[in-house]
Amino acid sequence: MERILVSSCLVGRPVRYDGAAKPVGDDLFERWRAEGRLVPFCPEVSGGLAVPRPPAEIVGGDGHAVLDGTAQVRTDTGEDVTAQFLHGAHQALATARRTGARFALLKEGSPSCGSHRIYDGTFTGTSSPGDGVTTALLEREGIQVFSEDDLPALDTLLQTLDPKPEPTAAEAPERPETP
Ligand code: SF4
Repeated sequence: MERILVSSCLVGRPVRYDGAAKPVGDDLFERWRAEGRLVPFCPEVSGGLAVPRPPAEIVGGDGHAVLDGTAQVRTDTGEDVTAQFLHGAHQALATARRTGARFALLKEGSPSCGSHRIYDGTFTGTSSPGDGVTTALLEREGIQVFSEDDLPALDTLLQTLDPKPEPTAAEAPERPETP
């Protein structure tokens, strides 16, 4: 069964910078949870940051630029938390490897977990296209990242990869008796 590394805040854990959660509340998500596919993980907490913590944004690029050393992650007071974000990203990758997760479902917009857009480093609520730091690392390492806006696409992929189990004797269609 394919497993999915998932942002802890999406499963309802209150680990965001403001001490809140962002539960998904979707039937597909609840099915994956019931199937035991979900591997919850918060890169920022695992990277050593507290809950609550100051908001942070990537300054000078996106997560790929952070991995390349040409951008930093800073709090709204200018503290450099790049090392914690990088540590959390590598912890996320290690968790995906350990659990065999080839897919990740990560919270959109986060400087760690965003996959289509992140905030632009000005702390003005302005988004720009780009990946968060954890997303960038996972994608570089071949783990496909989806956001909470992509649930149907991930479900289609999972149905392709996880063949339906053989029907049990009770479920098998009746065959005519041979004479
Ligand atoms: Fe959620 Fe990711 Fe932010 Fe942790 S780092 S609170 S998992 S969006």
